[in-house]
Amino acid sequence: MFDPNRHYPLKNLKWELELVQQAIQDIADDAINQINRSRKLPRHPMDNYGVCSDLYFGMTGVIWALTYLQLKQVIDADLDFAALLEEQLSANEKEQKAMPHPDNASYLFGDLPILMLQFKSSRDGRIADKVFQSIEKNNSQPVRELMWGIAGSMLSANFLHKWTLEDRWKEMFRLQAEKMLNDWERIDDIGYLWSPDLYGAKRKYLGPVHGFAGNIIPLIEGKELLGDKRYDDICSKVIETICNTATCNERHANWVAVFEESDRTKIPELVQHCHGAPGIVTALSKLPRGIDTRFDEILEKGGELTWHAGPLKKGANLCHGTAGNGYAFLKLYRRTENELWLERARAFAMNAIDQYRLSKEIYHQGRYTLWTGDLGTAIYLWDCINGEANFPTIDVF
Ligand SMILES: [Zn+2]
Repeated sequence: MFDPNRHYPLKNLKWELELVQQAIQDIADDAINQINRSRKLPRHPMDNYGVCSDLYFGMTGVIWALTYLQLKQVIDADLDFAALLEEQLSANEKEQKAMPHPDNASYLFGDLPILMLQFKSSRDGRIADKVFQSIEKNNSQPVRELMWGIAGSMLSANFLHKWTLEDRWKEMFRLQAEKMLNDWERIDDIGYLWSPDLYGAKRKYLGPVHGFAGNIIPLIEGKELLGDKRYDDICSKVIETICNTATCNERHANWVAVFEESDRTKIPELVQHCHGAPGIVTALSKLPRGIDTRFDEILEKGGELTWHAGPLKKGANLCHGTAGNGYAFLKLYRRTENELWLERARAFAMNAIDQYRLSKEIYHQGRYTLWTGDLGTAIYLWDCINGEANFPTIDVF
């Protein structure tokens, strides 16, 4: 239930704390030097699109990672982040017009994360107002998903609520949750799925970036804002859907990238964060344990498949790379407290470092992005040192 051509065999590399710490430093230093040299980041040949101002492929994601690591006192970045963020904001305004869904507030491509970073460092109420106005745009747009739509703006509202405790964020979160849940369709013998209108087509994606699991993330993160009864109802619907959409055998489980009602026997091929088992595990691991043993087992089977499949050829990165798959192990470690999952996460970490170093030799440059590049890998390495499972910009901002 996966395509072995997309994976490398796992190398037997021993976990060495100093090597891991060094890799984090090297990744951060390389990005800082690059920014100091030109205030721009070159696109990596393995990324399809340009490195612009956004959180996913662009400078905002790199700023996010550097400020996060600096706050944790892992690195010392002597950069004028305030000026850099101001530049990203004006660049983003221009880029927005050419984006696929320009009228949505986009969490991974739009101004939301830039404004959030500005607010985080300044606590300026006028910037909070701008975040609010941006989130508000999604009230009149199609629901879509985490990258372009309402799941992303709900995450944003939830972070702002945590930071400010102002009621307006809670109300906005609830309003958007209502809108999203009104779009949830019942599918016989399956459960509940969305059909996000994305890039001109409506497809029932299941994963955490474009699909079902991604829409569930803000509902889990903001569960206190929903109330127990509502949250319990959501949990049982998610568990039902995830069990019924899984392709399983005794040891492994995987999910297709897109669920098709007319072809329910399609065999999944992808095992990466954005599509397939690791992303499902990572996105849903905070759902309650022990209320449905079938669900508990299926998440671990998703982890087993991720381990069995091995590191990804698409690179060391988060979205469709080895580090992203490793987050499924860190999540299962936190969920089950079974040390085996931490060992597996660390084995993937050492392989991700190996891939990062090899890639630099081949391409003579780093991959300067958060979601598809080295900076995301650095955060993963940091979590592997600490045995934490804080997926960047999703679990923590
Ligand atoms: Zn991806």
